[in-house]
Amino acid sequence: MNLAHLLMRSANVYPERPAVLHGSSCLHTYAELAERAARIASALREKHGLMPGQRVALFMKNVPQYIELLYGAWWAGLAVVPINSKLHPDEAAYIASDSEASLLFISEDANAVSKSAAPATSLQAIVSINTSAYESMLECPPCDMQSLNGDELAWLFYTSGTTGRPKGVMQSHRNLLAMMSAYFIDVDEITPDDAAVYAAPMSHGAGIYNIIFTAKAARHVIPLSGGFDTAELVGLAADIGRLCLFAAPTMLIRLVEHIAATHADCGGFKTIVYGGGPMYAEDIRRALQVMGPRFVQIYGQGEAPMTITVLPRSVLADSGHPEWPQRIASVGIPFALTEIRIADEHGNSCPHGEIGEVLVKGDVVMSGYWGNPHASAQALHDGWLRTGDMGYTDEHGFLTLRDRSKDLIISGGTNIYPREVEEVLLTHPGIKEVAVVGQHDAEWGEIVVAFVVAAPGIHAADLEETCLSRMARFKRPRHYHFVESLPKNNYGKVLKAALRERLAKDAALS
Ligand code: AMP
Repeated sequence: MNLAHLLMRSANVYPERPAVLHGSSCLHTYAELAERAARIASALREKHGLMPGQRVALFMKNVPQYIELLYGAWWAGLAVVPINSKLHPDEAAYIASDSEASLLFISEDANAVSKSAAPATSLQAIVSINTSAYESMLECPPCDMQSLNGDELAWLFYTSGTTGRPKGVMQSHRNLLAMMSAYFIDVDEITPDDAAVYAAPMSHGAGIYNIIFTAKAARHVIPLSGGFDTAELVGLAADIGRLCLFAAPTMLIRLVEHIAATHADCGGFKTIVYGGGPMYAEDIRRALQVMGPRFVQIYGQGEAPMTITVLPRSVLADSGHPEWPQRIASVGIPFALTEIRIADEHGNSCPHGEIGEVLVKGDVVMSGYWGNPHASAQALHDGWLRTGDMGYTDEHGFLTLRDRSKDLIISGGTNIYPREVEEVLLTHPGIKEVAVVGQHDAEWGEIVVAFVVAAPGIHAADLEETCLSRMARFKRPRHYHFVESLPKNNYGKVLKAALRERLAKDAALS
């Protein structure tokens, strides 16, 4: 089945219902949205000559056109490659090239992207959504939806790679339909009066969630700011109500602090799904106090999108339960449609209470990484996905994450692989050695910190410049420690744990 069927059904049953809102103004009804998607599909097929299975990349902020482009591509049987709009144009160009995208849609700054993306040989055009070229696509006559069996690629999700290059996670139509069913079983009921507001990037989980709301003919709300603005969100909650949103822990904490400080009414928020990074028990306790039982936690990863475990609203609200303190610090129980297993280093299952790697099985699990059979074979064994996350379960099935076996830093819910940052820093001729680690931070969860062995006269400002010229701003180190040498083991491998300990000690002393 094609995901675009969800849109066609909603448009048939509820043609007049509001589908896409920009701020609180309705731009398109469901009938209009479906028609726009069918016209875009026709332009992609007829004008650009694309065939089912080919890829269309989206390097766009959260804009109203996002939704119609996703469905336009699916309607034509194509796959989408949404790219985080905060990436550097060179990073976006790498993704466009690796995915062999035929078209790249961008929301702004065409020049910077076109220069970087030019070497992507598969690209036949870059289309800015603010131009007449885009408008002319919407003048093509609507076409029929491409029929699919469901295993075809729907979304190629680029996740940061341990090797310093992002990898494309292949999510099929079936994977995303499984994610949608899991949401309805375990996260929330959705009605046509609900409104999904996209405060987090649509290139990630928040955007993947759109299918849930399309299936129920609910409203899609793109904030005028194009992102996360606490005052704007509170205003939208008051104006249009029944808001459902996905928020990384950093966003949730900020929203809660804003509401606590302004005493704003939070009756317009229906459900806030949080995840993407660790949430401290103290922070969710406060969130519940300030906003009431509006929260559901999910734990997932691109390789099993948004659907590994869930900490339901009812469990979060059950503060009288004797195990409540441990439960709110956990990531919850496996989704009904997902099996999990904790495994030791030999792949054997661990008893309750013992820490091991979290393995996942179910229809939500990706089929592999795009064009990377080696990485796919490392991640998938006998249908089990190795998440790289370490944790333990209790006797009731609650999973508590402890650490990551990968070197990953999660800052504000966004993954940053140290290797990516190290490679950029090492392009500076004055840097001899570098090690990048995450440092605990109350606001961001973690921040990026670099330890560098540098030639005399090199300052943090020089390194900052190098980073900003090659890499997304959010990945740059917030602090630099200039050191004589890096701690290493007998094999010469840098002891990152020692560096993290040093940061923790410094923090305890300050
Ligand atoms: P991504 O593939 O970008 O979605 O990142 C997935 C990673 O984020 C997971 O492998 C976990 O390490 C982390 N993560 C996701 N959700 C949670 C959560 N609820 N609590 C703690 N860490 C999480």
